Amino acid sequence: MRESVASLTVDDSDPRDPSARCDRCGTQGTIARAIRHSEPLEIFRYCINCWPAAQEDLERRQTQELNEYHQAWRAWDSERLRDPKRERPKPPAPWSGNSRSWSDVQRFLELITAKLEEIPRTTPPPFPEIAAEIQATAAQMVGHMPAEVAEFLAKYLPPSA
Ligand SMILES: [Zn+2]
Repeated sequence: MRESVASLTVDDSDPRDPSARCDRCGTQGTIARAIRHSEPLEIFRYCINCWPAAQEDLERRQTQELNEYHQAWRAWDSERLRDPKRERPKPPAPWSGNSRSWSDVQRFLELITAKLEEIPRTTPPPFPEIAAEIQATAAQMVGHMPAEVAEFLAKYLPPSA
């Protein structure tokens, strides 16, 4: 495993694994990977069909882990004067994920354009850079490019010299 425990949340490496089996349905050939940076690492791989549902499950699990941590922290915080030896709860292990699913690119674009348009800036938003990054992995993506993504690329991709 090359995945490093030190690099959290950002996972730029290619998540595709043609020999791996999907953790949900057992199909060979996966396009998405999620890593729980615990000790030991937990690594999940999914095929294109299972990824949307798997992603929802994983997001629910992360939210639950965070909620449990907040509850444990509040309990610790209210008890620590009475019980100074009480152990401080540990935050949950961070997650990272990456896929070659167009729906994730589309979701990312919606989030990033909304974010970038709402903050006041002195320079134009880095849409050409984002477009170039999407274009760089386009050949590795599974299925057809969504119309919204194609429009974004047509609008912002720097003309090739
Ligand atoms: Zn599957």
